[in-house]
Amino acid sequence: MLNLVIFGPPGCGKGTQSTRIAEKYGLMHISSGDLLRNEIERGTDLGNQVKQYVERGLLVPDGIILKKIYKNAIRFIHSAGIIFDGFPRTLIQAVMLDTFLQKKELKLNLVIHMLVDRNELFKRLTGRAEDSGRKDDTDQIFGVRMRVYEKQTHCLKEYYSGQNKILQVNGMAPVEEVSAKIVRAIDHYREKNEVFSNVI
Ligand code: ADP
Repeated sequence: MLNLVIFGPPGCGKGTQSTRIAEKYGLMHISSGDLLRNEIERGTDLGNQVKQYVERGLLVPDGIILKKIYKNAIRFIHSAGIIFDGFPRTLIQAVMLDTFLQKKELKLNLVIHMLVDRNELFKRLTGRAEDSGRKDDTDQIFGVRMRVYEKQTHCLKEYYSGQNKILQVNGMAPVEEVSAKIVRAIDHYREKNEVFSNVI
């Protein structure tokens, strides 16, 4: 299996890149944000429980998201691999994901960390607000999401660096260019079993 995590600040393009990578390598794509938005749209109990967090730009409690992710991931453990998009987002989630995979005698192979300037992120999100219809794509909530990212998620960089799994990708380039770089790095990893150490 090829199991990947992609993370980065809001608007960094992880959703777009995940879809492209999943297609290229035949991976199952698990987007925590899409899963939660789907529950909210359908008005399920889970949706009602998480709505207040998602719309305010705050993280859903670890217990809730972990249960939802496990339920999805378990269906895919005999697939070519999984790309986790938007999960993990806290250190606890990262540790729990490792434990979950270990129990299934699986592991994470690579963690893609997308790097994009704050000004560019802001431009992208305000541009996307009209099309996405997402309640959290507003200037004010963007500020909250950025702070949440810096406080709770950015530490994943250290955690996965310690495991030599971090692939840092400059996400400022056009979509196709970013995808091409990621594909090159994944192919390199699969051939040589080593990760590019510089930002690509
Ligand atoms: P973005 O990265 O653009 O902010 P996502 O679609 O990944 O958007 O996530 C949207 C929202 O869903 C988050 O702001 C948060 O409220 C919730 N969410 C998604 N993934 C997680 C997670 N792993 N843990 C906690 N909350 C999450």
